[in-house]
Amino acid sequence: TTEGRAFRRVVLKLSGEVLAGEDKHGINVKVIRALAEEIRDIHRDGVELALVIGGGNIFRGVKAASDGMDRAIGDYMGMMATVINGLALQDFLEKEGLTTRLQTAIEIKSVAEPFIRRKAIRHLEKKRIVILSGGTGNPYFTTDTTAALRAVELDADVIFKATKVDGVYDSDPVKNPAAKRYRRLSFHDALVKQLKVMDSTAFSLCLDNKMPIQVFDMSKEGNLKKAVQGKPIGTLIDA
Ligand code: UDP
Repeated sequence: TTEGRAFRRVVLKLSGEVLAGEDKHGINVKVIRALAEEIRDIHRDGVELALVIGGGNIFRGVKAASDGMDRAIGDYMGMMATVINGLALQDFLEKEGLTTRLQTAIEIKSVAEPFIRRKAIRHLEKKRIVILSGGTGNPYFTTDTTAALRAVELDADVIFKATKVDGVYDSDPVKNPAAKRYRRLSFHDALVKQLKVMDSTAFSLCLDNKMPIQVFDMSKEGNLKKAVQGKPIGTLIDA
């Protein structure tokens, strides 16, 4: 452990809804700017950071399919949406003086590098923030699964799943005011209790490869820093 930092390499999963803020849809510039400042602060402490960005604030394949669209095409559109978010994030991170590289799982060479595992690792070693967009590059997957996959292949210590809920509860805290938040959960308990931490593909990847998941509320200022310092916020799911 180096001063104020419990993790060496972190994959931070940002859902599209985080970028939308109160707008629910699209990109809220104020939110991204605040986010970029928080990321700048934790980066200063030396943590290696890869961001996996969602696209639900712009487009979701499942939703499009339920409206009668071809699922795979909808999913490709969703993956493109994550690239739009990635570009926005890159812009604001660089405005904070950070060096970033945007990589895409589907090649869009004139705006970003293709995802190349060894290049991504090299960027991280050089303390560049790597933004991973385009999901896994495959339809029928999610960006949660992307985060799990990249965390494993980039040898991260942990996945930070930043959401609007401050952890994993024993029941829906919106419907049940007496709902209890778990501070720590084993993969096994999460499975047995059928708690929804991530989708099943993402969760399986983490379980099989013993990749810890820290779930916390990103909209609260200072939470990201606490998470990097290993302070007990939200819920930690591990072996
Ligand atoms: N998507 C996909 N394959 C992937 C990742 C994402 O097809 O590997 C598509 C899918 O349609 C999804 C959309 O991209 O609905 C946006 O991603 P996600 O829903 O994971 O975003 P988030 O909920 O995190 O904002």
